[in-house]
Amino acid sequence: MSQSATGAFDALFHENRKFPPSSEVTAHGNISDPAIYEQARQDPEAFWDARAREQIDWFHPWNQILDWKPPFAKWFIGGTLNASYNCVDRHAHGTRANKPAIIFEGEPGDQRVITYAQLLEEVTLAAAMLRHLGVQKGDKVAIYLPMIPEAVISMLACARIGAPHTVVFGGFSPDSLADRINDCGANFVITADGGWRRGKVVPLKDNADEAMAKTDHVKRCVVVRRVGDAAAIHMDPDRDIWWHDAEAQTRAAGTTDCPPEQLDSEHPLFILYTSGSTGKPKGILHTTGGYMVQTSLTHKWVFDLKENDVFWCTADVGWVTGHSYIVYGPLANGATCVLFEGTPDYPDKDRFWSMIAKHKVTIFYTAPTAIRSFMRWGDEFPARHDLTSLRLIGTVGEPINPEAWIWYHQTIGGSRCPIVDTWWQTETGGIMISPIASLTTTKPGSATFPFPGIDADIVDEQGDSVPLGGGGYLIVRKPWPSMLRTIWGDDERYKQTYWSRFENIYFAGDGCKRDAEGYYWLLGRVDDVLNVSAHRIGTAELESALVSHPKVAEAAVIGIPDEITGQAIAAFVTVRSGIVADDALAQELRAHVAKAIGPIARPKVLRFTAELPKTRSGKIMRRLLRDVAEGRVTGDTTTLTDPSVLAEIRSQYEATEG
Ligand code: ATP
Ligand code: MG
Repeated sequence: MSQSATGAFDALFHENRKFPPSSEVTAHGNISDPAIYEQARQDPEAFWDARAREQIDWFHPWNQILDWKPPFAKWFIGGTLNASYNCVDRHAHGTRANKPAIIFEGEPGDQRVITYAQLLEEVTLAAAMLRHLGVQKGDKVAIYLPMIPEAVISMLACARIGAPHTVVFGGFSPDSLADRINDCGANFVITADGGWRRGKVVPLKDNADEAMAKTDHVKRCVVVRRVGDAAAIHMDPDRDIWWHDAEAQTRAAGTTDCPPEQLDSEHPLFILYTSGSTGKPKGILHTTGGYMVQTSLTHKWVFDLKENDVFWCTADVGWVTGHSYIVYGPLANGATCVLFEGTPDYPDKDRFWSMIAKHKVTIFYTAPTAIRSFMRWGDEFPARHDLTSLRLIGTVGEPINPEAWIWYHQTIGGSRCPIVDTWWQTETGGIMISPIASLTTTKPGSATFPFPGIDADIVDEQGDSVPLGGGGYLIVRKPWPSMLRTIWGDDERYKQTYWSRFENIYFAGDGCKRDAEGYYWLLGRVDDVLNVSAHRIGTAELESALVSHPKVAEAAVIGIPDEITGQAIAAFVTVRSGIVADDALAQELRAHVAKAIGPIARPKVLRFTAELPKTRSGKIMRRLLRDVAEGRVTGDTTTLTDPSVLAEIRSQYEATEG
């Protein structure tokens, strides 16, 4: 982002509402002294060393905190631990033994509560079963399951025996599953007969069969019975086995004992593919020690976790958010987690709110894309339920528009719950920039400050730190414990993607501004930045201006070639329920943006669309809109939710723009 970027577009900086934490929250906070930021800044290694001791039980202590041979980091060298031990065994005896670890609700409404003592039994047996089937330390296991307890149990069972997992979101196609199996060389697959989605069965085993036909890697496939008779299942007798049969065999063989492996701190915990908003998904490698320290710590401090909290993160375990804040972070803290198989609008658009009321959820963590859908559907749905159990709410995944933040605060949070807007990535493993609920005064639309021990900054083209009030590239100067270790099988791409834009500095790929008080405001992907008459502008400000109009539900903005201005602004807009999208509204919205930001920001093209193209994790895929606008063949679409959305936009666009 050039210097000219910084002055011209300040829409987000006009957001000056502030929300300090309540005195009650600060009085009882897990972390109550803001001096922790300065302490961590002065000696980040000492900070992480102390946290690693507090947060995690180690079999053997480390002899070196950090080994940094740029761009390769190792943390807690020489230490040994086990993630499943930290998430399960250590809570399974004593006061947490009968505490619910997982409160599961399936889409059809079936429920299952699993206590820590029960989770230990389940995980141990599943780990023994995997061993019985031939899974050895270091083998990769692909997990392709719905959001059912076996998904969490499988992950922890893999961690127990040192078999790195790769979880593939159950909504992905056979080709996407095959690509991931081939890329990481997974020899084992865990899937289910099917999963429920909007009352229908997703044929997971059929999909897995199709995927396994496209790879030579897979030796065994374990199948969980989830939907029962609703699915007719083909089983290959040499390869496939039902989960319950495999467990019964393990019992019969008398090999159910499976203590946690003592694993090296740098032992691979999982490989997870990014969501593909900006291109072909990358296989991100995370290891054990540093990842466990940072995910559990951020979970405890950011959300100010208390013993009796009921924590609900709505992400799928197929995304990093599910890994870090459904499974590893919360369970390491001995928390009670809600696990939900369904979608927010089935059987009706109040499903999430009925879940919160029923399970007395206290902390709720979801994505801006979901919040914008809730706004579009209307306030009547949350109004049907008692949401007073909530005390803290959070977001992750995209910049949250200030308008959506305020709606979330008032309508879901009852104007009472603090909001934590958490910035992080698959690559960062854990939260990096975020409020700490017990310390931070928030501003709607800002992720506020880097977490203690995280040396983030905003720099210009030359890599120089921009002064307060300026904008540029978001970077991280020093390694952090839960950072990715490489892109699986491709160290070169790892170096190129993250560490070459600025030498030995982590390049996040996001644009960011910092206001006069040092608050961070994420502006969207650097790849998506527009250049209008030599002004560089992030997508977030333009989109937030559009979403601030009461008739707009959601917006995506891209740059299109323009002879005079270099690039012109094209906006794709979804309106709220019951609103008529016509030319008059298009004019009104153009004028609205010009007024909010400045005449230069007036969109040249404004198209209404029923849906925007999104990744399966719900992020807007602007690169595909650019492809449409420039008449190109579309790039990698394997992570696109619904290809018909793009086809529809393309045919409309071509009909009107020629
Ligand atoms: P790919 O790297 O394959 O394009 P992706 O970047 O969408 O996929 P993720 O790792 O799931 O995959 O997403 C991380 C990105 O999400 C961040 O780089 C950022 O752009 C966005 N993001 C996450 N949380 C926030 C937040 N609180 N505010 C703003 N942006 C966020
Ligand atoms: Mg990314």
